[in-house]
Amino acid sequence: MNQRVIPLADVRQLQQVPAIPSTLAPPVGLLQDSRGRALRDLRISVTDRCNFRCVYCMPKAVFDEHYPFLGRDALLSFEEITRLAQVFAAHGVRKIRLTGGEPLLRRHLDQLIRQLAALPEMEITLTTNGVLLAKRAAELKAAGLHRVTVSLDALDDQIFRAMNDVDVPVATVLAGIDAAAAAGLGPIKINMVVKRGYNDQEILPMVRHFRGSGHILRFIEFMDVGASNGWKMDEVLPSAEVIQRIHAEFPLEPIDPNYPGEVAERWRFADGGGEIGVISSVTQAFCGGCTRARLSTEGRLYTCLFAHSGHDLRSLLRTGASDAALAAVIGEIWGARGDRYSEIRSEATANRPKIEMSYIGG
Ligand code: SAM
Repeated sequence: MNQRVIPLADVRQLQQVPAIPSTLAPPVGLLQDSRGRALRDLRISVTDRCNFRCVYCMPKAVFDEHYPFLGRDALLSFEEITRLAQVFAAHGVRKIRLTGGEPLLRRHLDQLIRQLAALPEMEITLTTNGVLLAKRAAELKAAGLHRVTVSLDALDDQIFRAMNDVDVPVATVLAGIDAAAAAGLGPIKINMVVKRGYNDQEILPMVRHFRGSGHILRFIEFMDVGASNGWKMDEVLPSAEVIQRIHAEFPLEPIDPNYPGEVAERWRFADGGGEIGVISSVTQAFCGGCTRARLSTEGRLYTCLFAHSGHDLRSLLRTGASDAALAAVIGEIWGARGDRYSEIRSEATANRPKIEMSYIGG
């Protein structure tokens, strides 16, 4: 997709160990940040490794055999993740998404799911490239996973193999999607990142394939996450154009969001063939409704996908901080949050140092 590589600024080093407040206010589930946004969703990256080398996310030239992936001791253990998840739940989080890297590469992931699924009123979801899903779907469902989102950027084998850059065929991912549906992990969302001039000719074939399947196809604008994907504004295909192209072949009607602040804008086929979504983080920023926090593989809390520094919760966990202290720290961090990167994005901000998506969790 893109042979130009910007040298990787390793901003993983930028972190702060948060100070524990002197008064430990107990969580009441009603946190608000400085712009009035609640905390509802937690994305947890369970590994920074991936079995794909998507050219727009983990290009081979950067993520090669010399890349310093995190060592085992650096990763949060399942017990540490679960403990933090409990604290986030007390602050009002009701949805956890496991991601990465490729989350299905984390060994014994079903054990973690079992622990998280025991949290009351918590929806547990997972985002995956689907390669290992055919083997694992039933076990993940049995562990308590509710839904999966599968990433798939093209239906054409040549384009897809070039995009994942490790020669995985489309059929492997389609088999994973079928297995997930059979295991009851639906409704399944299929996410396609659209990069103009690279895979935008795949929009209509993807629509034709998934229409009527019950799966929800969603088109994501190519974003300037990280510093290694050589992002340029003119490679973004605006969602409005995606909708126009689909509407010309299959008339569409807008539908209401499922809940306030839903990231995807929803559309349905006028003939009853199901629904699709568009996620327009570049052309129609949705920072105003962003209720997501992100926990990196090594336990740093980020309050924005485009952040360049995180808050080191792992140090607190490993130096004996109590649950009350962790809750107070998280409460303070969220209360001070003012992020709105997508609202202020420009070609200039795209060059700022930012954390890689494979590390922070997509
Ligand atoms: N490995 C898993 C997967 O493939 O779904 C989870 C992690 S991956 C980073 C999550 C999602 O982020 C994928 O759908 C990927 O296509 C998307 N993504 C990565 N880089 C992106 C970018 N620059 N713009 C938009 N989406 C991106």
